[in-house]
Amino acid sequence: MALLSDFCHFIYEALKCSKKLKLTVAFALLRKPLKDNLFYLEWLLVNRPEFLKMFKDGLSEPTTDARRGVIKLAVDSIATPGLYGSDLIYDFRYKKSANFGFEGNWNKANHLITTFHDFKTEAQNFNFVFGGEAERDTQLRFLYTRLPYLLNYVVEVMESLLENIEKTDSAYIESMRLRRLAGLTIWAQSLDPAHCGWDIERFSEKLKEYLKTECPKCSQVYSPDLKLTGILYEGGKIRCPLCGSVSRLPLKYVRLVA
Ligand SMILES: [Zn+2]
Repeated sequence: MALLSDFCHFIYEALKCSKKLKLTVAFALLRKPLKDNLFYLEWLLVNRPEFLKMFKDGLSEPTTDARRGVIKLAVDSIATPGLYGSDLIYDFRYKKSANFGFEGNWNKANHLITTFHDFKTEAQNFNFVFGGEAERDTQLRFLYTRLPYLLNYVVEVMESLLENIEKTDSAYIESMRLRRLAGLTIWAQSLDPAHCGWDIERFSEKLKEYLKTECPKCSQVYSPDLKLTGILYEGGKIRCPLCGSVSRLPLKYVRLVA
């Protein structure tokens, strides 16, 4: 819980800084929770005995293979396996040479001068400190074409991890997941894939597969009307297009069908 609490404090302050357009600080604050805290939470989810043994004996820096292995298992363990890509989640957080990942911005936010060839500081410059409006827009676009994806993945990791500790009403969990998926759908549809730098169209297709539920009135499986996803996300109401009944979340019985 302390590891999660620390994660939330950093993310919360990062989002507040982002809202105030203090983007260098926002990027700097995102580094530890997404690279460190999240990895140990993923490890706790996929192999708690191994983590606890290593923690007791003294943790060392995990290897690339170990990180990739844990993330792959975590992506397969959550309630929406196949929705998130383990390679993409690894590359966003750790791959230095992936120009669509956070490493470049994290290094630039934390150091005035960087020498790694993919994000080397130009002559007569310091990283980020001389940026104007155009650079700010680029940084905002970078952040908001990636962060909702990663943070929704984190919610899934935590839901699964906490389910192992204390059971929660599954209909409530599924109702909230349906609502988040509706929010993610609205987000994904609002983005221009050409600005994303990663395959958001593939993710949108996967989202459609998961945004299905069983009507509590007529028991038929349906995909919510995409025009009404705003009402589902914001207002917690869902309309079955097959029998016309409107239900309010949390539904009594929910079955997400992938
Ligand atoms: Zn129905």
